[in-house]
Amino acid sequence: MNASTPAPASANGLPLALSVIVPAYNEAEVLPAFHARLSAVLDGLAPEMAAEIIYVDDGSKDDTRRVLRELAGQSARVAVVELSRNFGKEMAMTAGLDHAEGDAVVIIDADLQDPPELIPDLIRHWREGWDVVNARRTQRNGESALKKLTAHAFYRVMRRMSRRVQIPQDVGDFRLLSRRAVLALRRLREQHRFMKGLFAWIGYPQIEIPYERDARHAGSSKWGYWKLWNFAIEGITSFTNGPLIVATYLGMLTALCAFAYALVIVWDTLVHGNPVHGYPSLMVVILFLGGVQLMSIGIIGEYLGRMFDESKGRPLYLVQSWRPSAAAQKAGAAEIVEK
Ligand code: UDP
Ligand code: MG
Repeated sequence: MNASTPAPASANGLPLALSVIVPAYNEAEVLPAFHARLSAVLDGLAPEMAAEIIYVDDGSKDDTRRVLRELAGQSARVAVVELSRNFGKEMAMTAGLDHAEGDAVVIIDADLQDPPELIPDLIRHWREGWDVVNARRTQRNGESALKKLTAHAFYRVMRRMSRRVQIPQDVGDFRLLSRRAVLALRRLREQHRFMKGLFAWIGYPQIEIPYERDARHAGSSKWGYWKLWNFAIEGITSFTNGPLIVATYLGMLTALCAFAYALVIVWDTLVHGNPVHGYPSLMVVILFLGGVQLMSIGIIGEYLGRMFDESKGRPLYLVQSWRPSAAAQKAGAAEIVEK
């Protein structure tokens, strides 16, 4: 990074320029290595890019909590948000965004699949005036062919289904957000948080920069195929009414077919004085209609369930403890109220 470029005017008067958000769930094994690598990168930034690292412990069941407290004890730039239980990565990221004070915010996975070394590059693009700098994976090392294939299919389906909000392809959660993008995101308090969609929804100038996704450093992915499938449903139902429309047209199409077939039967009976037959066709029609109806009800149910969840108006997550970074405290960051 060019040290002579002027620092952007701080929106909140704080000298904290960068907040790095790291959601962590059972990552004790990899966190020390991750922290070392990230710290090396942050140390290399220009002096005016004062940075804090906000670790969000998403109710880990292993040693993550202890490791994070140790890191916070050792480094002035470490802040730790501990959630009251496991809320999932989307909520952990939301908690991080709610606690971030920096003028730019980077979200990065703790498992070293997103290279911290890319951060200076993200910052450079932010300085050029981009509000959202997405890191696009050109390669997914250490992931099975099936996972790559399903991920590929998912992004294409999403693209087809929601036209207004274009969700960038092959972009994970590794990205940089400007202050105003973060403030915009904080206003989106929906329960079903399909973050990739929310990041796209806010608009503002967005750019993608390519990188190679590495294999997990240690530990294992928390995403089985069932979870990924549900994630895909979440994405689709949170961002489009497409399936409802498909159900409508499917219903219309079957009604049309049924009408045409009715004409055939009437004609058949009139011309041939048809004695009773057609049990197989009757069975097929009944089963087909039953299937279509159940599927449509299921689709409606998906949307209804989401409305049910939203209508409860529960908080998105609960914080068990919040320990701001010593650096931010020195900078006079206001105490953050639990959201
Ligand atoms: N994560 C989290 N809460 C969860 C699951 C995951 O905060 O319930 C974090 C995890 O610690 C990691 C990131 O989200 O930093 C990505 O998780 P993972 O590597 O399991 O996902 P993948 O890379 O396979 O998509
Ligand atoms: Mg991972």
